[in-house]
Amino acid sequence: MAGERYAQVHAQSIEERSSFWAEQARRIHWERPFEQVLDYSRPPFAHWFKGGLTNLAYNAIDRHLATRADQDALVYVSTETGQTHRYTYAQLYREVNRLAGMLTGLGVGQGDRVLIYMPMVPEAIFAMLATVRLGAVHSVVFGGFAASSLAARIDDARPRVILTADAGMRMGKVIPLKPLLDEALTLSDAPEAKVIVLDRGLAPDQPYKPGRDHDYARLRAEHMNAEVPCTWVESGHPSYILYTSGTTGRPKGVQRDTGGYAVALASSMEYIYCARPGDAWFCTSDIGWVVGHSYIVYAPLINGSTTILYEGLPTRPDPGIWWKLVQDYRVTGMFSSPTAVRVLKKQDPSWLTRYDLSSLRYLFLAGEPLDQPTSDWIASGIGVPVIDNYWQTETGWPILTAQPGIEDTPRKLGSPSFATYGYQLEIRDEASGQALGADQKGVLCIVPPMPPGCMSTIWGDDKRFVSTYFSTFEGDPVYTTFDWATRDEEGYYFILGRTDDVINVAGHRLGTREIEEAVQTHPNIAECAVVGVADALKGQVPVAFAVVKDIEAIADAARRGAHEAEVQKAVDRHIGAIGRPARVHFVTGLPKTRSGKLLRRSIQALAEGRDPGDLTTIEDPSALEQIRQALG
Ligand code: ATP
Ligand code: MG
Repeated sequence: MAGERYAQVHAQSIEERSSFWAEQARRIHWERPFEQVLDYSRPPFAHWFKGGLTNLAYNAIDRHLATRADQDALVYVSTETGQTHRYTYAQLYREVNRLAGMLTGLGVGQGDRVLIYMPMVPEAIFAMLATVRLGAVHSVVFGGFAASSLAARIDDARPRVILTADAGMRMGKVIPLKPLLDEALTLSDAPEAKVIVLDRGLAPDQPYKPGRDHDYARLRAEHMNAEVPCTWVESGHPSYILYTSGTTGRPKGVQRDTGGYAVALASSMEYIYCARPGDAWFCTSDIGWVVGHSYIVYAPLINGSTTILYEGLPTRPDPGIWWKLVQDYRVTGMFSSPTAVRVLKKQDPSWLTRYDLSSLRYLFLAGEPLDQPTSDWIASGIGVPVIDNYWQTETGWPILTAQPGIEDTPRKLGSPSFATYGYQLEIRDEASGQALGADQKGVLCIVPPMPPGCMSTIWGDDKRFVSTYFSTFEGDPVYTTFDWATRDEEGYYFILGRTDDVINVAGHRLGTREIEEAVQTHPNIAECAVVGVADALKGQVPVAFAVVKDIEAIADAARRGAHEAEVQKAVDRHIGAIGRPARVHFVTGLPKTRSGKLLRRSIQALAEGRDPGDLTTIEDPSALEQIRQALG
């Protein structure tokens, strides 16, 4: 069974919910104490730490000034521009106050929205912190999104101010941002917002619209000495809006509270991430995603850590760059994604051992299934434990993870271990809604109330919040993750894929992930996608799209055929002939969202001869073209 100490803490977090979370709440500053740990009088809406007044920016910065003013709060490294900047907590305080002064000057007050469409630069973090300092609400839009996605988010949030930059940079190429914002603003029907443009000197001579557009540096110069007091907000006050990745359809605007989020993150830094104040922490995500919000910005700063903000690719100037940063800054904890590790896996493994990684204690990975070969490869390469985290934009922090800060339980490959404290989980039968036992496949659900840190609602749409997440089983409102899972006798969970992706072969229900794992056991397969395709006889049959490592090995039809048969045999061996893909198509890349998630829904549509649907979040449209060609 799960470790004793872990089990005890988890049980306490559910059975003695109020005292457990009241204790955790002592980790942050409350300007006025809360009256009630949880108000759950309006299910499924959970109001944590009701009546308490606090502020995210205060907890991330001001609170540390007495003890760590001269410690680095933020280290910015850009391998795109060659710049490195360090900001101590005292300097971070100054910059955030200046920006808060700039925002106030443009009319931003409590509850107003500020949209941040910026590359991975320190000013983006200043903007997030300045916004919450004022009790305003940020909406960070990933800098890789084009005008139409941006316009949709502007319409939804109706911001008073938008921050952007002249340009971002990727692989040494300048990618102008301001023109995309200009275009988005013409597409949007929200009232016109004021715009602050950070001129990085990358894309000169961009036109400014008089009265609307302001230069960051010029405004900053007017607010050099600004001291803007924190606006104390009630714990349930929204801190930000953030959209889900859009893997399964129209992105949902997740609204987060203030107090519950701060408490959940503060506790996670000790219980999950084993990070001590003063430690250096490196999260390789993007501030445009939830992992970036929680673990580049808020959690490490609330914890008093030094957070590393890295602008660039993991492979430039060479595939050792991340590990060089770990060495140079004595990083103790690192957070990344399986997608990113798979990028490194295509490189020479000796890059993993060229630097001194003795400071590093753990690598955490989240965002999509962590396959066994990838996990093994990185764990043995860098010599630290790799911990799989399973969570969603909606929850803001892990639902499933090992919690080595509570107890260092043994890990099982392919499993993100156990329910995080605070989460009461059930695996439910999709049809009957019944809670299932060990080794039975079903939908992973959270029994409400959701713990602190989880979404409060969908921005501006309480009804959609309830109907999307809590209405799968009639009369029994549990939160559905829409992920398919099992739990073994010892309490370890396994995520088998999204419920949409379950394949029904002649009455047998198979998770796409199970088949993908089996396909990936073939030594020449780097990555793969399996989808269910309608079949007159069997209902559905699995079809695989596999990325090959050695393209020569499938150079002609005969070799391709032999390869296909080998892969099918590998699946037979691992899950049985029932899971055998009817076809294995070989490609060199797979269509993914900008956050690195497989667009299985679009692949499936193509395989069934349908329209691939909404592609606004796709990273590389040519990957979809390859699928089309492979299908003939
Ligand atoms: P949308 O909800 O808009 O379709 P999305 O679900 O991809 O997009 P995110 O919130 O970024 O948006 O992703 C959460 C999902 O990612 C989870 O529901 C799960 O399917 C997958 N996921 C995240 N971490 C893991 C993990 N460790 N193992 C397996 N799957 C994971
Ligand atoms: Mg989702």
